[in-house]
Amino acid sequence: MGISMGSFGNVLLYRLPLGRSIGGRSRCPHCKHVLSPWELVPLMSFMVLGARCRKCRRPISWQYPLVEAAAGAVFLIAFFREFPSIPAVALLGLCLWLLLLIAVVDAKTATIPDAFNIPFLLLAVLRSFVAGEPFLIAMVIGAGFFASQWAFSKGRWVGSGDIILAAGIGALLAEVRLILLALWVAYISGAIVAVFMLSMKKKKMRSRLAFGPFLVAGAMVAFLFGERVLGMVGL
Ligand SMILES: [Zn+2]
Repeated sequence: MGISMGSFGNVLLYRLPLGRSIGGRSRCPHCKHVLSPWELVPLMSFMVLGARCRKCRRPISWQYPLVEAAAGAVFLIAFFREFPSIPAVALLGLCLWLLLLIAVVDAKTATIPDAFNIPFLLLAVLRSFVAGEPFLIAMVIGAGFFASQWAFSKGRWVGSGDIILAAGIGALLAEVRLILLALWVAYISGAIVAVFMLSMKKKKMRSRLAFGPFLVAGAMVAFLFGERVLGMVGL
């Protein structure tokens, strides 16, 4: 089911930024060949087709199998965390699935559509609310951290999407020390990648680097390993 949600996620990632409807059959973006049911089977079809369109033989992006496999992984994580409560599995799975889609869409387009961000924030709040975790302070820290930068730089340093995303991550993690760890990991990993890209001359000093993927990476690290990492350094 998680892998199928990844397949659906790929549809959303392709169509939402282009403003297209979600209904209708999937086509090859090059030759417009309508995909038959067996060409839509997640992961399998990519391997059987040898990463190429059956009609025009042009390559299919690796994004498709990677997002499908990653979605399978996050739903599996949700399953192990929340079983036997199926609603809790679904809620956490959807939160992590949206985080995954947000990271990919921001990396590709440097914007986070509200259609991903707002549902993530609402589901993260719902999850912590149902679990009875006091999430408000962590949510305000996440949002406030970016809102203050946004206000100070008049929207030049960070996008408004980062504010909503960080609020959602705060609500999901629900603990002050975990949201702080997530922000720290996001900045360290972002800085490492920025230095690497500058040295490889892939980016210039003045060019922008989407921050969403790093925030999502920080959130995942804090969510999966936060307690262990903080325990190791005695926090
Ligand atoms: Zn084709």
